[in-house]
Amino acid sequence: MARTPLVAGNWKMYKTEAQAEEFIQALLPRVSSLDGADLAICVPFTDLRAMVDSSRGSPVEVFAQNMHYEPEGPFTGEISAPMLGELDVRGVVLGHSERRQLFGETDKALALKVPAALDAGLVPILCVGETEEERDGEETERKLRHQINEDLAGVPAARLAEVVVAYEPIWAIGTGRVAEGEQAQEAIAFIRALVSGRDEAAGESLRILYGGSVKPDNAAELLALPDVDGALVGGASLDPASFAEIAAAASR
Ligand code: PEP
Repeated sequence: MARTPLVAGNWKMYKTEAQAEEFIQALLPRVSSLDGADLAICVPFTDLRAMVDSSRGSPVEVFAQNMHYEPEGPFTGEISAPMLGELDVRGVVLGHSERRQLFGETDKALALKVPAALDAGLVPILCVGETEEERDGEETERKLRHQINEDLAGVPAARLAEVVVAYEPIWAIGTGRVAEGEQAQEAIAFIRALVSGRDEAAGESLRILYGGSVKPDNAAELLALPDVDGALVGGASLDPASFAEIAAAASR
């Protein structure tokens, strides 16, 4: 079955509102005729409202980079799914390796966050991936199985296909070391098989992105892999010209 590719830019903790505005004004004319691919920017909380307003009516969708699983409560510094939904935010990145490694994000919390996002009408982009040590120790499949099983445990089979999974080998994030095509294809096909094990149709239609040092010069090759349904792009999404080039590679 045909899956529409998604190219999502993850800005991390970059761009003030003024810088974000400058970015979107430079991006929009470059993607106005984008066809056959979805496009998203995952921006800091402080940029959400401005980016939603500025991208209305364009092919660009706006995502957040994290959220709490409770709809409200005494959780100082946190943001909930309904708060994002009310801003017309389209989705949210969950379980990025930086959140897992630097901020103690757990699979237990993700098992609550993914269904909470879906219930609020948000598209969750769930990030999974192995460290370099795990790859060297042939632990990649064990790690992916663990993360997929745990993090999607609270999602009913009927809603699995609404989740987007991003396979991001941690050793490839922000390092310039992109995974070889064969490594990306193998890991992503493995993730698809895990989801198919729960629900065949969901496995077929679920979108799985590759993330890790995707740049304009390697995007076309990665995006052409049979199980790769798009890219989660960090560094190269900060520049409107390179991000638009990657988006164009996905729409071809
Ligand atoms: C990311 O932040 O998810 C990412 C993949 O970063 P980069 O493209 O810079 O490796």
